[in-house]
Amino acid sequence: MSDPSVIDQIAAALRESSNPADRVTSWMCHWSLYRGQLQCSQCQAVQMPQAASEPFVHRAGCMAAGGEAYPWQELAALLCRLPQRSNHRMFSRN
Ligand SMILES: [Zn+2]
Repeated sequence: MSDPSVIDQIAAALRESSNPADRVTSWMCHWSLYRGQLQCSQCQAVQMPQAASEPFVHRAGCMAAGGEAYPWQELAALLCRLPQRSNHRMFSRN
């Protein structure tokens, strides 16, 4: 799993899956979360969640630079598509 092209192919296949968990796995092929920061798996550049509304800045020469520009937003959208608890309340006051 060290060849980026193989990882890209797996990520692309998972991205097309109807299973929301597969799409999260696809996201994780390109990004990781470490100590509250989001990190590019290719160049190891990081972005804090406070900068989620700004385009992700990769290091020079990163092969992933042309991909998703707002990975925090993409992750948030993916997580919202996961099945919710049946008794889930969006705005709990507890
Ligand atoms: Zn990168």
